[in-house]
Amino acid sequence: MTVLRDLLRSGEPSFSFEFFPPKTEAGSRALWDAIRRIEPLSPSFVSVTYGAGGSSRDRTVEVTKRIAAETTLRPVAHLTAVGHSVAELRHIIGQYADVGVRDVLALRGDPPGDPNAPWVPHPDGFRHAHELVTLVRESGDFSVGVAAFPERHPRSPDWESDIRHFVAKCRAGADYAVTQMFFHAEDYLRLRDRVAAAGCDTPIIPEIMPATDVRQIRRFAELSSAAFPEELAHRLEAARDNPQDGHRIGVEYATAMAERLLAEGAPGLHYITLNRSTATLDIHRTIRDSRSAQHVLATPS
Ligand code: FAD
Repeated sequence: MTVLRDLLRSGEPSFSFEFFPPKTEAGSRALWDAIRRIEPLSPSFVSVTYGAGGSSRDRTVEVTKRIAAETTLRPVAHLTAVGHSVAELRHIIGQYADVGVRDVLALRGDPPGDPNAPWVPHPDGFRHAHELVTLVRESGDFSVGVAAFPERHPRSPDWESDIRHFVAKCRAGADYAVTQMFFHAEDYLRLRDRVAAAGCDTPIIPEIMPATDVRQIRRFAELSSAAFPEELAHRLEAARDNPQDGHRIGVEYATAMAERLLAEGAPGLHYITLNRSTATLDIHRTIRDSRSAQHVLATPS
């Protein structure tokens, strides 16, 4: 299997999908239904988020292992430093290595319960993501990804320190970064230019969140501090009693932004699925079809 870092430097955009570990049997069925619908598209990878505590974390490990064992997909395991000693983190990384999972998204994480509460590291753990990047790299032949923030990390006092710490994380051994959700292409492009100006060429994959339900999206945007476009909010508000219209509006907006990002040279697209596949598949198919049409037009007969 090609190593993810090579794939991202091949010039072909990567396409990937993000899932979260479900809490219930019904949630599990929805997740596996989405996975099976996405599998035939042969995405570059799929990722599974890491929860704030105990049972949710065990489910992340279980789902990631099962994707590795039972599908043709390449799973990327999210891992955070929250509440873990270094020994525990080493143990989890070892569990992944044992089942052939070779890709980890190394994150610091947020305080459980309230992401805006003061960050308190585990007494035997890590303060920042770059230390986890180093640990994963030292633990074997892993590709390591990190988080990037098109609107700056909410805790960063200024852009200068935000970019400096991001670059340090890349230099610690990150092969690529995936961004926080955002809704203005310019935010991504400005981040990419700032990182390049700091002498760092780590590929930064934009995360695409289809905004089809205004209530849900406002909640997510608040949690992630992403600025939500007022015009899109108004259009979704107007469609709030008509889910089909909401779907169409959200998919059109995300597709236009994703096409612009690829045209501007983004190395790929990482879709948040919320364990459903419909909106992300609609976006992905439109982009795939328009790229293959462009390819046909560009190929001399
Ligand atoms: P860091 O890189 O450590 O940065 C955190 C803050 O500390 C920044 O302000 C940074 O500038 C600053 N900083 C970094 N290094 C230093 C230093 N040496 N000295 C001083 N300041 C420093 N959370 C989950 O719980 N589970 C998930 O699965 C998950 N998946 C995510 C996926 C993506 C793509 C993204 C973008 C975020 C995800 N998160 C997840 C959220 C993430 O854990 C939080 O946003 C967290 O606050 C930041 O993590 P980080 O890895 O960027 O931390």
